[in-house]
Amino acid sequence: MFKTQTFISSVYKLNQLPRNRLPEVILCGRSNVGKSSLINSLFNRKNLAKISSTPGKTRSINYYSVDDKFYLVDLPGYGYAKTGKSERLRWAKLIGEFIEKSDHVNLAFHIIDSRHKPSDLDIKLNTLLNANEIPYLIILSKADKLTQAEFKSAKERVVQVFPEINPQENIQFYSTVKKKGRKEILRILFENFG
Ligand code: GDP
Repeated sequence: MFKTQTFISSVYKLNQLPRNRLPEVILCGRSNVGKSSLINSLFNRKNLAKISSTPGKTRSINYYSVDDKFYLVDLPGYGYAKTGKSERLRWAKLIGEFIEKSDHVNLAFHIIDSRHKPSDLDIKLNTLLNANEIPYLIILSKADKLTQAEFKSAKERVVQVFPEINPQENIQFYSTVKKKGRKEILRILFENFG
């Protein structure tokens, strides 16, 4: 399995992307959805990704190298309740431009809180990924907060808004508390980049 994970850089502008080109796995989702926690728990690290104290504050694109085989790219979160419309539009533009400019995005982890309905920006993101033919995994986070009965409805909510999705292949529940989904996600990464 993977041995070393290193924080490479925080990038604020698209002309500052790392020169050393590796395949990229992008992490996207709304603020506070559990992206930093996912990065840390996936690799059993406490502080690889800083867990944001103020939701919506993270504006940088954060690069992590995994065994020098691929980059995990933590993209800015979106759609926090306090963000206005112009901010949201800026986010969508940034993600679209990032995908184009990087040209190295091999896979996307699209994280959605398993308790919530996908937002308009989640739908926008899914459209962007499809349009750019980027394979994606929808990660339904904080699954420890669901009752057994709620797992089914959480999945159905996602299938309803992303009709082209393959629920067997494109959806994975995740819980940092129960380490649920960790092995499955590591396996996907290893199969693709190991
Ligand atoms: P980010 O803004 O997407 O990077 O989200 P964070 O990783 O900072 O997490 C936001 C909040 O959700 C924090 O208080 C985390 O402790 C909590 N959280 C993240 N993942 C889980 C999970 O799997 N289960 C539970 N119960 N809480 C989680």
